[in-house]
Formats: sequence, C-alpha cells, structure tokens
Amino acid sequence: MSDKCVFCGRPASAARFMIQGSGEKVALCNDCVSVVSIIANQAYLNMDDVEFGMGPGNEDSMSEEERAAFEEAMQECDDFFDEELPFDLTEAACEEAELVSQKKMTPMEITEVLNKHVIGQDKAKKTLAVAIYNHAKRLHDKSGRIKKSNIMMIGPSGSGKTLLAQTLAGVLDVPFAIVDATSLTEAGYVGDDVENILVRLIAAADGDIEKAERGIIYIDEIDKIARKGENRSITRDVSGEGVQHALLKIIEGSEVSVPVSGGRKHPHGNNVMMDTSNILFICGGAFEGLADSLEEKKKTIGFGFTSEAEVETEKTEVKDISPDMLVKYGMTPELMGRLPVIVKLDDLKESDLVRILTEPEFALTKEYQQLLAEDGVELEFKEEALQEIAKVALERHTGARGLRSIMEDMMLDIMYTVPSAEKPVRSCTITKDTVQNKVPVLRYRRIKRKESTCA
Ligand code: ADP
Repeated sequence: MSDKCVFCGRPASAARFMIQGSGEKVALCNDCVSVVSIIANQAYLNMDDVEFGMGPGNEDSMSEEERAAFEEAMQECDDFFDEELPFDLTEAACEEAELVSQKKMTPMEITEVLNKHVIGQDKAKKTLAVAIYNHAKRLHDKSGRIKKSNIMMIGPSGSGKTLLAQTLAGVLDVPFAIVDATSLTEAGYVGDDVENILVRLIAAADGDIEKAERGIIYIDEIDKIARKGENRSITRDVSGEGVQHALLKIIEGSEVSVPVSGGRKHPHGNNVMMDTSNILFICGGAFEGLADSLEEKKKTIGFGFTSEAEVETEKTEVKDISPDMLVKYGMTPELMGRLPVIVKLDDLKESDLVRILTEPEFALTKEYQQLLAEDGVELEFKEEALQEIAKVALERHTGARGLRSIMEDMMLDIMYTVPSAEKPVRSCTITKDTVQNKVPVLRYRRIKRKESTCA
C-alpha cells in the first residue's frame, strides 16, 4: 500500500484519508482528490460536446477542436496549482503536517493502542508512552534542548519487549527494524558491523533514507554483550564491550556512512550518509541475575541500613533498576548514559497468559477459531483449558512465547482430522483434558436423509 500522495507527496499520516489506486501502488490524499475533481469538472465543462478518451497519451490523434479544449483544460490545471491551491504543498509543510499528526496522540492514547496488543506491563506502557510522546516533540524541536530518550527495556524472555517496540513503531507509523546484539562485532571482525543495523532500517523503509532517519531500531539481547567480569578487559572483547563502544556513535546520533547494497534506489550498491540523531533506539534484554547486584547491599546489613528480609524481597522483585546496577552487570557507563529511559517488564502471571490467549486482536485462540470456522467448525475453549495451557507455559519458563508451541502441538491432530472426518463436525470444545491428552469434545452435524420420491 502506498503511504504517500502521488500528487503532493504528503504522507498518509498527514492526510484525512487516502484513496488507493489499482494495485495499491499509488494513492491520492483527500485534498488532491478535491483538486483533481474540480479540475476534471472544469475540463469537462470546457469540452462541451467534445468526445472523451483524449489525454496526454493520444494528443497526436486529436482534432483541432479537441486539442484546443485539451490545452485549455491543461492551462486551467496549471493555473489552479499555481494560484488557487487550498493547502501548502511545500516539503516543509508536508513534514510539519506529519509531525503534527504524530504529536496528536497523547500518552494516554498511545497506551490505549498498546493495550490492544500487549497484556499487562502497565508501568512499562506508561513510561514508553511518555518517552514516545516526547520523542515526537523532539523531532520538530529546533532549540536542541529536548534530548533523545533512547530506551532500555529489561524483562524476562517472552514478556513482550519486542511486541511493545513493534507496536510503538506502528503508533508512530515509522519503519521498524529488529537486530540481535549477539550477531554484532566490532568493525573488521567476523560478524555484522554495527552499521548493518542501519541497513536493516533502510530496508524496512523500502530504501527511503529520509524515512529511515525517523525510524525505530530494537536491539534485542543487549545483555549478551555485557562486559565479562568487573574490570575492563585487557584483551580485546570484540563482541561484548567492543560492540557497546561501536554502538555509542550511532545510538547517540551522528552522520554514519552506511553500505547500501542492492535495493530499489541503489541497485548497484554504494555507501550513503545517514543521520541517526532522530532514530529512536530501544534496547532489550533479560539481564538474568541482575538481582544479584543487590548482594552488595546485603553487605551493608549490620550497619542498620537494610534487613536481610528486605534485601530478599527486593531481590525477587527488583522494582527500580538504576543505571548503576546495569553497569555492574557489565554494560559500559557510556552506553547507559545514552539509554536514559529504563523500563522494567514484569514476569507474566498465569492470569496474564490466559488473557494473552484470548484478548489481543491477534490472540492465538482467535486465530484457531478463524482457521476452523473456514471448515464450518465452531471452536470453543473452556476457561479450565486456557488455565492449563498457561500453567504448562509457566512450567517451561518461556513466558508468552511458549504459548504458540503448546497450542500448535495440541491442535495438530484436530486440524488434521476434522476436515476429513466421516461425519461433518459442527463444533470442537477444548477442555483441560484436551490440553493434557489431546482429546477434544466433538459434536457432529445431523445428516439429512434424502426424502423418498416414491409415490
Ligand atoms: P520478548 O520479551 O522476549 O521480546 P516478545 O515480545 O517477542 O518477547 O513475545 C513473544 C510473543 O509472545 C509475542 O509475539 C506475543 O505473541 C506474546 N507476548 C509476549 N508478551 C506479551 C504480552 N505482554 N501481551 C501479549 N502478548 C505477549
């Protein structure tokens, strides 16, 4: 789908509505539709009895009368664009309109969108909504006073870090790229150079560098490039501390030379300069054992500051994570300085997992219900079954990520046999027993016997 008006170039997000052309490759914004319609009417009136079917492609075959009417219509068209435009078509105006449209969403509205896709994690959603709202303001700040608020998300695997980042990119309507920090190495060593992160974003923006310069990059598994050990390494740590240093430059915001090979705009491959100062970086990691940094605190017991019980509770909850704790874990102070917003995601509870199975727009139960509905089968999940699936996921310690494999395993036989069952299946109910033993409760349609036609 095209996200820009082919006439004025304004982005879809800055228009009230867009009309897509055939093949969805071109689109017109609402204002240009009005302009085109006025011009077309004008041209029609000027042509009086002149037959339709003419246009720039068949001018040679026009009669004199047709040519005169055509030229007059084209002149009207030029005049209209020169003098009477009801809106400003300059690039700056388009940019401004886009920014205004981005700024329109308040933090609460951003949270509402996140709520549609992400269950729980309320504190994280609030922090992210404010950070994104401020980021949108920063994009049009000319004073340079509003600093970039890159984000560090900390939470167990499968708790929704990537999902949150992805949904935010959708809220802002900007390109989004995910990279795995473990695949990166310092320039010159085997592995991806950090500049390749930007290549992914350019690809997500379909080669449009300007668009990519406003995108969001999610760097997953950032904890895996933590420095090993307390002291700075004497030998080169090319995939840990080395990468953290290489990342500084692009995360902070600078002009970076990016190797662009292939792609629509650079078919032969070359280097392009890219400004990263408006790219929002979100880093995510599980930081397992982070609570152990509270060991230090434990040492202060005896001086009357903390009781052992308090430390134990804090170790399991770790509510507020300070940059210091992350530096102790192995992140460099320089990198932490460039990730000022720290967001902590909670472990998902059984009740959260049940909600994840049923509530989001793309919930797994809804997906399977749609699949079986196409075979004319109504699929029902009993509450006890959902709780059992959630329990199994919790036992596997895979967070919500494990739900899909449990569901796929359980549904495989059903999906295989139901479409070719001897009697047509009307409904399929998933109970606790189905989760444990893969045996669903099936109800069948009554087959109407053909009425006898004998007299
Ligand atoms: P991670 O925290 O490891 O980045 P993801 O965001 O990739 O986890 O989650 C994996 C999948 O689990 C998601 O695609 C989504 O389907 C589901 N999921 C995880 N957390 C949530 C959540 N809080 N709400 C809804 N779905 C979730």
